[in-house]
Amino acid sequence: MDSDVVPVIGLLVLVPFGRREVIGLIIGISDSSDFPEEKLKNAVALRAQLAPLSDHWLALCAFAADYYQRPFGEVALPGLPKNLRALKPGPLDRALKKIARGVAPHDATPAAMPVLNPAQQEAADAIAESAGFAPILLHGVTGSGKTEVYLQAAHKILAQDERQQNLSQILILVPEINLTPQLENNVRARFPGVMVATLHSGLAEGERMFHWLAAHLGHARIVLGTRLAVLASMPHLKLIIIDEEHDPSYKQQEGLRYSARDLAVWRARQLGIPVVLGSATPALESWHHSQSGRYRKLELRQRAVRDAVLPTVRLIDMERDKPAEGLTSTLLAALRLRLERGEQSLLFLNRRGYAPVLNCDACGWVSNCTRCTSFMVLHKPEHRLRCHHCSLELRIPKYCPTCGNIDLQPMGRGTQRVEEGLQQFFPQARILRIDADSTRRKGSAQAAFDSVHRGEVDILIGTQMVAKGHDFKNLTVVGVLNPDTALFSHDYRASERLFAQLMQVAGRAGRAAQREGGSASEVLIQTRYPQHPLYGAVMAHDYDRFAGELLEERRHAGLPPFIYQALLRAEARELQTALDFLQLASECLPHPGITINDPIPMTMTRVANVDRAQLLVECASRPALQAFLKIWIATLRQIKTRARWSLEVDPVDI
Ligand code: ADP
Ligand code: ZN
Ligand code: ZN
Repeated sequence: MDSDVVPVIGLLVLVPFGRREVIGLIIGISDSSDFPEEKLKNAVALRAQLAPLSDHWLALCAFAADYYQRPFGEVALPGLPKNLRALKPGPLDRALKKIARGVAPHDATPAAMPVLNPAQQEAADAIAESAGFAPILLHGVTGSGKTEVYLQAAHKILAQDERQQNLSQILILVPEINLTPQLENNVRARFPGVMVATLHSGLAEGERMFHWLAAHLGHARIVLGTRLAVLASMPHLKLIIIDEEHDPSYKQQEGLRYSARDLAVWRARQLGIPVVLGSATPALESWHHSQSGRYRKLELRQRAVRDAVLPTVRLIDMERDKPAEGLTSTLLAALRLRLERGEQSLLFLNRRGYAPVLNCDACGWVSNCTRCTSFMVLHKPEHRLRCHHCSLELRIPKYCPTCGNIDLQPMGRGTQRVEEGLQQFFPQARILRIDADSTRRKGSAQAAFDSVHRGEVDILIGTQMVAKGHDFKNLTVVGVLNPDTALFSHDYRASERLFAQLMQVAGRAGRAAQREGGSASEVLIQTRYPQHPLYGAVMAHDYDRFAGELLEERRHAGLPPFIYQALLRAEARELQTALDFLQLASECLPHPGITINDPIPMTMTRVANVDRAQLLVECASRPALQAFLKIWIATLRQIKTRARWSLEVDPVDI
């Protein structure tokens, strides 16, 4: 260590590593070493003025590493901004100076706070006045004003600070920041004198370092971020809020496959602070905890805007009302009415592209991906066939590659095709498509949503991107185009997800009071299974009943949250290699009390020329499963195999 710096745990240092210098984190201090002394080198402190990472933060990383069975460094280091890791003094110094200057006290009048309704007030008070660890499920219907509850609870906590000359920090987690610019704007407008840091993967490195440091140094009182922000260093953290806590994006799906929601709850427990999980459709795990009393449940049963009511949900039986271009006459009539009245419509179809497959009627050829167990999707505006799994791209063939037939047919329907159909039906309408293809450029999603908010769009068509969070004021009808496929999925979580998605997208309609001469808000679901109980629950806006029934099913079937799971995945050029490894894995240890299922190929077996298989492990006790995994993973490392493998704890996609 450099002589001028005292080594302390949590300090970031530069370590000579071969010819390079890499960043290191001091996690322990020792007087002696097994290495010969002449081989030891000095580490250089990153910045003496940069406070070490706290014990609490180190404990959080240690917990995550331990729980998800990954090395500590893999948890702790990726969370740090790259510039910090590369230790460029220039940007670091500039950022430190800028942070020291604090926020410009621009326009210090905070945006007006609406008067909370009694249910909101009760919730905001309950949150702000909680002492110690307090997990709270804020279950509020769409449009019930959950955001307002978060903001006013935050306000109370920060105001207490001023009186007590204290310093508090608040962490607000959101599913996807680009889809919630409204929230960011609201927070900044409401807290003009407060430094708000944002942390998400879309930030440029310099910005990311600035925001990370602002949080780490305690200057940012509010940190707003996506799942990765759960690992932000916040020395004065006093409240964590998880907005739309059911959202699948809180689960990281590669590398360290952590659940930001679960880590947030752990973090709150360790710090002895409240954590709020907000949703109209809570994850069944969270709901279960609120039913058993582990989480306190706060309810908002009404929409917040006076006279705004939940939309009427109707099912359109597609066997009776046969669709043209994917649109039934009932839905077309509803769209026409909104156009006449100058109101907005939203169509939801969770499938991007023009058609999911291109097909030859003459010989049966279909546009299979040569590298994956999937179809190449037709993208008409881009003149391409694209595989959504391996990103392979081809020009659209002019004739069938097998028989030469020039009349190739698109089968099925994605957002691009619906957009085309809409243009035929409503040539005068301003139609906008929002999906991953239409919003590739940075900032384009935000620009698209802004134009909807400004009223420049009559009909919006989109994937799940349009279903979340947005507060569209003039939108009175939502059409759902093809939800049925999820009803019969092999994935036991599919119905939970479909229900949440439908409730969320339905929640975009009727968020303002009905105008005089305007339409009552409604949701039209096109289906071939109008009798299905899931749709019945959506029509009744009855989350409680639906969740209760699903939980009962899970209890009988022995599924989470009543048992605990881990998934071992293996991939190799040959499926057999992966299966052989998994077979060995299933036999390599005695495992009383632990169920190890048979190895099976994954549903989508091949992706980018690699075959994939999996092995599901289950146990009624979480500690028992954890104890087993620890020994198991050490044993697996001894197995010689060409398969690449990884272990996921609490998997969600099985
Ligand atoms: P949620 O997140 O629960 O879906 P939002 O927080 O987006 O709901 O609130 C829905 C709408 O209600 C927003 O336009 C918001 O400004 C408004 N709102 C919230 N609380 C109140 C209130 N107490 N009085 C009037 N309007 C409110
Ligand atoms: Zn053919
Ligand atoms: Zn592919």
